[in-house]
Amino acid sequence: MKQASANITAETIARATWIAQKRIVAAIGLGDALRRDAERKTRQDKGLCPYCYYARGMRIGGAAMTFRACGLCQSEQTYGSTVTDALCLPCAKKERLCKHCGGDLDAQPRPLVRTLRKTKKESSHDPHDA
Ligand SMILES: [Zn+2]
Ligand SMILES: [Zn+2]
Repeated sequence: MKQASANITAETIARATWIAQKRIVAAIGLGDALRRDAERKTRQDKGLCPYCYYARGMRIGGAAMTFRACGLCQSEQTYGSTVTDALCLPCAKKERLCKHCGGDLDAQPRPLVRTLRKTKKESSHDPHDA
């Protein structure tokens, strides 16, 4: 793969520097927010892990009505943009998972052997049912 060279001018340097400064400030702010987790209760009520909650302002999505089924119960969810969640809120709450990324609600590693409650999708494919 070959990419076109960047066009470097005084204006592109100024603009890239301005963007880099904004990103540095945002990243430092995010780091502080993650360390403090000051909105822990609100975050957990919204079913989001620390990263997905505090970095939510950084998500960039296309403005298009988007439909996506919940990864556990398969109920169709409707979103106002292309930024969608892995799970519906009731499933996220029930399993203490982040509804956006599907990881642990508090980003704490959990044993892989831990089983989720059986979902409709899994039970319909259960060979023992046949
Ligand atoms: Zn669900
Ligand atoms: Zn998450």
